[in-house]
Amino acid sequence: MADQLIRAVAADGGIRVVGAITTRLVEEARTRHKLSYVATAALGRTLTAGALLVSNMKREDSRVNIQIQGDGPLDGILVDARLDGSVRGYVSNPSVELPPNTQGKLDVGTAVGRNGYLYVVRDSGLGYPYSSTIELVSGEIGDDLTQYLATSEQTPSALALGVFVDQHGVEAAGGLLLQILPKVANDERLISVLESRLSTLTGFTPMLRAQKTLPQIIEDLVGDMGLEIFPESQLLRFNCPCDGQRMLSALKLLGEDELQDMINKSEPAEAICHFCGDKYEAECDRLSDLLSELRMENANRA
Ligand code: ZN
Repeated sequence: MADQLIRAVAADGGIRVVGAITTRLVEEARTRHKLSYVATAALGRTLTAGALLVSNMKREDSRVNIQIQGDGPLDGILVDARLDGSVRGYVSNPSVELPPNTQGKLDVGTAVGRNGYLYVVRDSGLGYPYSSTIELVSGEIGDDLTQYLATSEQTPSALALGVFVDQHGVEAAGGLLLQILPKVANDERLISVLESRLSTLTGFTPMLRAQKTLPQIIEDLVGDMGLEIFPESQLLRFNCPCDGQRMLSALKLLGEDELQDMINKSEPAEAICHFCGDKYEAECDRLSDLLSELRMENANRA
């Protein structure tokens, strides 16, 4: 199944469900950043969460940034997800590898760290981004974001995120977000039924690997609760809109002397995009242009 996101509602619009398959985009992140197994799981979960979180925004140019800064060896994760289905992100230390945790799973909690912060920024493109910070709960990312949704966005939510990666690469990745909206927040019977079903949800990737489709997974969960799956699915992809010319302009930060020195030594310079790993190289001609621009800017400032 192609990477995609589908939306649904149940209980007369009182329950909102979003499901995403992100296998290919997580695999692309893995190869672009040369991620270890545990880094693939950590970044893959966060990329998937970004796609799920941005899905309830309205304006076309809306985006969500998720930053996780824990005290573990990954040393931070940053994800940028847009409503058009573009997702990108990176971890600071992509090569960190750890032994499996006590359940035999990739130890994302230790890699991220259990002490630290989760920052979420929602930006609808109007110039007033909404940002909020919470302390990490477990570093497992799903728990941390569930806590964020409950406290910062006052929406009780269940979030399942999964990445299955082995020596062949990412075999399955995706997630499911289920949210209880205010109109049913006081319906204790409904909530207790939901809770018991969610507790049987042992993981998202086993269902994908069993060839279940997103609509089947959602139907298994809330099919008897007046489920309405919206027909249009949205394609998701790893996409970084970085701009080589603009990235190279940042070389001006090196200063006039440093640029001149590089030109004298005929050393090409390169700028690397953190988000996607693309490299942009500036040959001496380009460096000379940048140096002239910088001299002009400095002269105007003086
Ligand atoms: Zn990029």
